[in-house]
Amino acid sequence: MKILISACLLGSPVRYNATDLLLEHPLIKKWQAENILVPLCPEVAGGLPVPRSPAEINSGDGLSVLQGQSKLLDKSGNDVTEAFVNGASHALKIAQQHNCVAAILTERSPSCGSQQIYDGSFSGVRKSGMGVTTALLKQNSIKVFNQHQLVQLDVFLKKI
Ligand code: SF4
Repeated sequence: MKILISACLLGSPVRYNATDLLLEHPLIKKWQAENILVPLCPEVAGGLPVPRSPAEINSGDGLSVLQGQSKLLDKSGNDVTEAFVNGASHALKIAQQHNCVAAILTERSPSCGSQQIYDGSFSGVRKSGMGVTTALLKQNSIKVFNQHQLVQLDVFLKKI
C-alpha cells in the first residue's frame, strides 16, 4: 500500500517559480520511514520546465479540462492543456503501478488542487474546484487529500 504525494511537498523545488512547499509533519516522517510515499510532480512529468509561467484553468475545473471543455492557459496566454493532461495521465499510471490507495496533493494547484483552484484570471481569486491530476485520480477511485488533511488520511489508512 502506497501513497502518491506532490513532489513539492517533499521538498523538490519543482513549482512554477522553482520553489518547494516542504511539509514538515510527524505523519509525513512516519510514512517516509515506512517507505510508502511515492513523490511525483505531474506538471514536470507532463514535460513542463522549471521554472515555468504559472498556469490556471480558464473556466470550470480539472474535470471540465478532462472532458475537453476547458483549457489550461499560462500567464502569457499559451495553451498548455496537453502538458497538464499528459502529466495527469502519468500520475495515474505511476499511482496504479505502485498500488497507491490515496494521494496527498498540494491545494490550489491547477494540477494538484482538490478543494480550491484559482479562477483563471491570474488575480489571486480562488474558487471551489479541483485540478486536472486530482480529477483523473478521483475518476479512478484514488482518494485525494490535501496537505492539511493528513490526520484524515491517517484515519482512512487505518480503516482499509
Ligand atoms: S504540479 Fe503539483 S507537485 Fe508539481 S509543483 Fe505543482 S503542486 Fe507541486
